[in-house]
Amino acid sequence: MTAEFQEIGHSGGKIEIRVMTDLASGRKSYQLRYTHCRPTPSTLIELYALPQGMALEPVNAVGIGGAIPPPSVPGAWLVMITSDSTGQFGHLCPRCEGYWRSGPWPAICPYCRFEAPPIKFLSDAQNAFIRQYCARMCAALDSDEDGVIEIDMDAVADAVGAGTPKPAFYVSEQSQQHKFNCTACGAFNDVLGRYAYCSTCGTRNDLAIFRDESIPAIRETLNASNRAEDAVRSAVSAFDSLAGQYAKQLGTLIPMTRRRLDRLRKRFHDFDEAKETFKAFFDIDIGRDVKSEDLKFIALEFHRRHVFEHNGGEADEVYVRESGDTSVRLKQVIRETPASAHRLLDLLGRVAKNLHDGFHSIIPVRSEPIELTGKRGELGRE
Ligand SMILES: [Zn+2]
Ligand SMILES: [Zn+2]
Repeated sequence: MTAEFQEIGHSGGKIEIRVMTDLASGRKSYQLRYTHCRPTPSTLIELYALPQGMALEPVNAVGIGGAIPPPSVPGAWLVMITSDSTGQFGHLCPRCEGYWRSGPWPAICPYCRFEAPPIKFLSDAQNAFIRQYCARMCAALDSDEDGVIEIDMDAVADAVGAGTPKPAFYVSEQSQQHKFNCTACGAFNDVLGRYAYCSTCGTRNDLAIFRDESIPAIRETLNASNRAEDAVRSAVSAFDSLAGQYAKQLGTLIPMTRRRLDRLRKRFHDFDEAKETFKAFFDIDIGRDVKSEDLKFIALEFHRRHVFEHNGGEADEVYVRESGDTSVRLKQVIRETPASAHRLLDLLGRVAKNLHDGFHSIIPVRSEPIELTGKRGELGRE
């Protein structure tokens, strides 16, 4: 696993462009060949580019011997692009200018959720490569003689690292901070920060982080330390972050009043109020299919968090007045048990799922990549 912000070298290989003249018609044509013999993963994609070096459209993969579909603009050239040395490609969002790495043809920016044809997400390095490639093709096709142009991507791969002179075709990518495989479609993403949309299907990764990372980490600490009060604080804090992420996205993607926007930027430390907010603003029921006694329990634990966090565990007037807890008196130290902390974590997992599902009922995901993964999974089970 690569560390944060490390340069990732190209996967290497050699691209050969053979330019030929048809003797009868005098017309020039070209053939492409790609060879790769380095011990690194490598993914090859093909696209059409306009001769002036502008990427036009992806070429859908065809089987060996299959005819390559013609470009939508006659005269466009076939360009081969290969991945970085981990088999991934860097991408740049034309709207927010965010950079990330994923498979070759993303559909959605993981940061701002901009949806565009995949060709729009090529990185600066890839666009520079395409311009170089087209310049070489132009020169070869203009020349009176036939011949072979070799683009040595092995030299590019070898030139990775600071200080090395870079070949003209130099391409490299940069590792980001959070690598994840989307839980819905399985696609790989490497993004800045932690929270993002999957760039293939548009599913948010917040729920997966909450369920698969935050909750297990809190349980582990709880089991090791038996400090249930700390676990409650951490659980509420993790939920607050999660709710804040979905709220921020909703606030960005849906036009709404200033008052609502202001509310969404605040904390989600009062469970009943948070539940009411998502219901009233977006018709998202975060308590769906959770029993009312469990919802009351979550709300109580959220009140307790406040006491653990700000009052050293002693019940204050706000707690006595608002929590509905009649078992403690003012100034009494509230005791928490590991069992109730685990129960809170179980329930918050379900609440988080409701929030995630509710969010995507408004902000849709792309179903094709998810269905494709489902089908692949079924095949694998046969
Ligand atoms: Zn973006
Ligand atoms: Zn996905």
